[in-house]
Amino acid sequence: MGFLIDVSYFLAAALFILGLKRMSSPATARGGIVWAGVGMLVATIITFATPGMHNYGWITLAIAIGGGLAWYSGKKVAMTDMPQMIAIYNGMGGGAAAAIAAVELLRGTFPSATFQVLAVVGAMIGSVAFSGSMIAFAKLQGLIKRSMNFSNQQLINLLVFGAMLVMGIMLMGADQPGTGSIMIFFALALAFGIMMTLPIGGADMPVVISLYNALTGLAVAFEGFVLGNAAMIIAGTVVGSAGTLLTQLMAKAMNRPISNVLFSGFGTGSSGEAAVEGEEGIMKEIDASDAAVMMAYANKVIIVPGYGMAVAQAQHKIWELTRLLMERGVTVKFAIHPVAGRMPGHMNVLLAEAGVPYDLIYDLEEINNEFAQADVALVIGANDVVNPVARSNPDSPIYGMPILDADKAKNVIVIKRGRGKGFSGIENGLFYLDNTRMLYGDGQEVAGKLISEVKQL
Ligand code: NDP
Repeated sequence: MGFLIDVSYFLAAALFILGLKRMSSPATARGGIVWAGVGMLVATIITFATPGMHNYGWITLAIAIGGGLAWYSGKKVAMTDMPQMIAIYNGMGGGAAAAIAAVELLRGTFPSATFQVLAVVGAMIGSVAFSGSMIAFAKLQGLIKRSMNFSNQQLINLLVFGAMLVMGIMLMGADQPGTGSIMIFFALALAFGIMMTLPIGGADMPVVISLYNALTGLAVAFEGFVLGNAAMIIAGTVVGSAGTLLTQLMAKAMNRPISNVLFSGFGTGSSGEAAVEGEEGIMKEIDASDAAVMMAYANKVIIVPGYGMAVAQAQHKIWELTRLLMERGVTVKFAIHPVAGRMPGHMNVLLAEAGVPYDLIYDLEEINNEFAQADVALVIGANDVVNPVARSNPDSPIYGMPILDADKAKNVIVIKRGRGKGFSGIENGLFYLDNTRMLYGDGQEVAGKLISEVKQL
C-alpha cells in the first residue's frame, strides 16, 4: 500500500506541474486547469488509503460541503468578481495549513525539533495569509470601503509582528506547548495579517493576494513536511514559487517594489492625489460617427483595453466592432498591458470570454513598435497603462512603468465616461495631445454606437 501511495503522490505532483505548464498559454490553459484538478483528485482519494486514517464520515462530509460550495460559487461568480473569489480560496489554503499546525502543536508529539519548528513557521505564514486574504476579499467585495490608516500604524504592526515572533520561538522550543500560548500565538498571527492588509489600497489587492498566495503555498509545504505528505510538499512549493514569480512580475510591470505596494498606501487617494500633473491644453471631443469613419477607412487599428472595459463589460461589443472592421479589410490587433485592469490577465480573460482569437492579442513587448504604423489607437477604458508621463516625468508615481505607446499612433481615440483618473490618480497627457480625440460615454454604449455607425458606412 505504501508503494501505491507514493506512486499516486508522484503522479499527482507530475499532474500539478504539467498543469501549471499548460496554464502558461491561453490555448492550453483550460486543459491545464483540468490536469491540475485531476492531480488534486488523485492526491485526495489516495489520502483515504493512508494507514492510521479515521473519521472517514466527517472527512467525506467536509469535502462534500466544501466541494459543493466551491462548485456552486465557481459556476456563479461574475468575471469581475474573480479577484475576490481567488482571495477567499487562497485564504482557505493558508487557513487549512494553519489548522493542521494547530492540531499538531496541540498534540505536541513531533519526531524531532525540526518538525516542531516547521509546524510553527507554517502556522505563522498560513495564519497571516488566511486573515490577510479575508481582508483583501472584504475590500474587493466593497465590504470594507476605506483604507484604514491611523497614527503609529507601522510601529504597532511591528510590535504585533515582534510579539508573534517571540511567541512562535517559544512554541518552537516548548516540550509540550500549552493550549493558552498556542491560542495567543495564533491570535497574534491572525491579527498581524489583518493589520498589515487594512492600510493597503483596494486596487493594490491583486498584488497582495498574489503575495498571500505565495505564502499559502509555503505554509502548505511546511505542513507537508510535518505530516510527511509528499503531495503537499510539492503542491505547496509549486504554488509558493508560482505566487512569488507572479507577485514579482506584477510589481515589475508597475515599476513598484513590493515594499511600495505593502507600505505606501498608493491608490488610496493619499499618494495619488498629491501627484496630479498640471496638464496644458484642452481635450478635443469626437462623436461616434466621425470615429467610426476614421476606423472604417484605416489600414490598421490597435485596440488598447483597460479597466474601464471591464467595468463597462464592453468586450463583446468591442469584438463585434473588430469583426466589422476586419470584414472591411482593416487590420485590427489588441494590445495588452501586463497590469491593465485589476488582476493579472484581466484583459486576456475578458477578451477570451468574448471569443477574440488569441492570435489577435499581443503583449506589450510584441506590439509596442507597431503603434507608429497604426492609423488609429482605440483606447477603451485604459488610462495609466497608456500614460506617456511614465516615460517623461521622473517625479510621477508611475515613472518607469513600461507603457503601451498609443500616443505614437497617427490618431488616438479614447473611450471613457469623463475626466475620471486612472488607478494612480494622476492626469494623463495622452488625452491632451493634438492627435487624440475623446469619445465620451460608457464603454459598452459607445462601442454599440460605433457598431451601428460602421454598419451604415
Ligand atoms: P485605469 O484604472 O488607469 O483607468 C481606467 C479608466 O477607465 C478610468 O480613467 C475611467 O475613466 C475609465 N472607465 C471607468 N469606467 C468606465 C466605463 N464604464 N466606460 C468607459 N470607461 C470607463 O486602468 P488601466 O487598465 O489603464 O490601468 C490599470 C491600473 O491598475 C494600473 O495603474 C495598474 O498598476 C493598476 N493595478 C493593476 C493590477 C493588475 O493586476 N492588473 C493590480 C493592481 C493595480 P472615467 O471615469 O472618466 O470613465
